[in-house]
Amino acid sequence: MDASWVNQAIDKIEADFQRSADTHLIKLELPFLNGIDIYLKDESTHPTGSLKHRLARSLFLYALCNGWIKEGTTVIESSSGSTAVSEAYFARLLGLPFIAVMPKSTAKRKIQQIEFYGGKCHFVDHSSEIYAESERLAKTLGGHYMDQFTYAERATDWRGNNNIANSIFSQMQREPFPTPEWVVMSPGTGGTSATIGRYIRYQRLSSKLCVVDPENSVFYDYYTTGNATISCNKGSRIEGIGRPRVEPSFIPGVVDHMIKVPDAASIATINWLEKLIGRKTGPSTGTNLFGALLLAAEMQKAGQQGSIVTLICDPGERYLDTCYNPDWIAAKIGCYRHYSEQLEQMERTGALTLTQCS
Ligand SMILES: *Cc1c(COP(=O)(O)O)cnc(C)c1O
Repeated sequence: MDASWVNQAIDKIEADFQRSADTHLIKLELPFLNGIDIYLKDESTHPTGSLKHRLARSLFLYALCNGWIKEGTTVIESSSGSTAVSEAYFARLLGLPFIAVMPKSTAKRKIQQIEFYGGKCHFVDHSSEIYAESERLAKTLGGHYMDQFTYAERATDWRGNNNIANSIFSQMQREPFPTPEWVVMSPGTGGTSATIGRYIRYQRLSSKLCVVDPENSVFYDYYTTGNATISCNKGSRIEGIGRPRVEPSFIPGVVDHMIKVPDAASIATINWLEKLIGRKTGPSTGTNLFGALLLAAEMQKAGQQGSIVTLICDPGERYLDTCYNPDWIAAKIGCYRHYSEQLEQMERTGALTLTQCS
């Protein structure tokens, strides 16, 4: 009896996937780079507006096949917002109750979207509290804690099967440099980086994976020191990425290089990108692109040619009250003009180096 519900649930997710289109790979027009092409995989166009649409689909399928979700199971998730928006969508598709446990600082727009899909939001003061609170809720309600931070890396098919890496590399096929020199990604769960990194190894490609970490996050320090017990007590200001603890889905062995990108540089970069493509993007896209531009500048300096691929993770409309609000910027980030000037200088000279704001 229950098996038939599970079968129908899997059918519904597969049919939803069948109706879906792939996301675009956008080539940037950057005349100041000679023979270096930068591409953005635009994950903002999924039905639920971010790359977490892929993750939510995988997590639901994984939990259904493991027997963790059955008819009527309440699904609980710890999330800074985007995952919860996408999971609320799939919970509604399956007729399941959904509760997101999130920091109270989460962007209003994301809260509205979770509620739009029929999910409930449960707030904690600090982003480090979301894990324990999710476990507690799941126990009390007899629900299932999805736990994206643990399962992101293993719920996704890393060898192919239309995963994001598969899609990027096939969309690159007719480009001047079809195998990117670098793929650049910022870690939240670390799942996307793990999928891309493993795919590159498995396909024996020459591409390297660069992971870009924001401030108030431990991934960079973990990568450079190997110490998995470090934590930081401030939450990341770049929503979706940067974590206060080393997440189990972050796999350092697949990462070739890491860069710590200042938050002010991420904000400068989304404003710079808006002038280039006429669209607002989320702040983690700024982190990604600033990292990609640093690598492009290094390649240019070394006389190298090739391509770099990074991601638009979500749209900027979600952040009108934060990253695109001058008051929020003044209070949380401070002045980012230093980095805007650096980007303008790159347009003139092709050079960009990571220097701190003075
Ligand atoms: C989750 C997320 C990321 C990071 O992706 P992971 O696969 O979790 O590492 C980046 N940007 C946004 C907006 C996200 O929601």
